[in-house]
Amino acid sequence: MNSAERLQEIRQNIAKWRKKSSASAKEVTLVAVSKTHGSEDIIPLIEAGQKVFGENRVQEAAEKWPAIREKYPDVELHLIGSLQTNKVREALALFDAIHTVDRESLVDAIIKESKRKGMRCKRFFIQVNTGEEPQKSGVLPKDFPKLMEYIKLATCHLPLNTFSITGLMCVPPADVEPAPHFALLHTMAQQYKLAHLSMGMSGDYETAIRLGSTHVRIGTALFGERKL
Ligand SMILES: *Cc1c(COP(=O)(O)O)cnc(C)c1O
Repeated sequence: MNSAERLQEIRQNIAKWRKKSSASAKEVTLVAVSKTHGSEDIIPLIEAGQKVFGENRVQEAAEKWPAIREKYPDVELHLIGSLQTNKVREALALFDAIHTVDRESLVDAIIKESKRKGMRCKRFFIQVNTGEEPQKSGVLPKDFPKLMEYIKLATCHLPLNTFSITGLMCVPPADVEPAPHFALLHTMAQQYKLAHLSMGMSGDYETAIRLGSTHVRIGTALFGERKL
């Protein structure tokens, strides 16, 4: 199969699994994770109708995407990897959505930069470290209410839509059953009335959709093995 055929198959899977999900009313966005792949791999997918792409590194995205976007201005780009505060300005100009807000210092940097012109990014997710893994980014579930409160206080005096959280994202630990992690994220989002859930990758997007995912982030199943 080529990538356009794999895209077709993944879209069919998403539609099928969404019908079976308890949260079937929601739309599921396929985020095509193009990290390590060049425009020769990306453009055939755009031509096949894929609109939303994800990258995990600001630098790599800045090298690849401006040229692609000049030709395909409708394409949306999401940051799914961790963000350093010194890359915030660049990230806000490059990405339409950031899935990895996870600490107060990053919130501060985003708010500071969002007062400037040239901010493209309009949607933000909080990454939650549901597995409480020390090496992984994301706010711990027990610290999540504090971060939400911090954001509320930091944004209450700003014009609406300057910076608002629309959803939660998680990457469950490898080699464990992901369902409890997705279920936890779903519960947290409901408590805070957040509409979006970024969860599910190549190996577990069926489970994620069953548990209410609105954004699946799929790399390998679409592009094949990563390069490098
Ligand atoms: C690489 C990556 C993905 C895609 O993983 P696959 O298993 O290749 O589908 C999803 N989410 C994040 C955060 C990633 O870094």
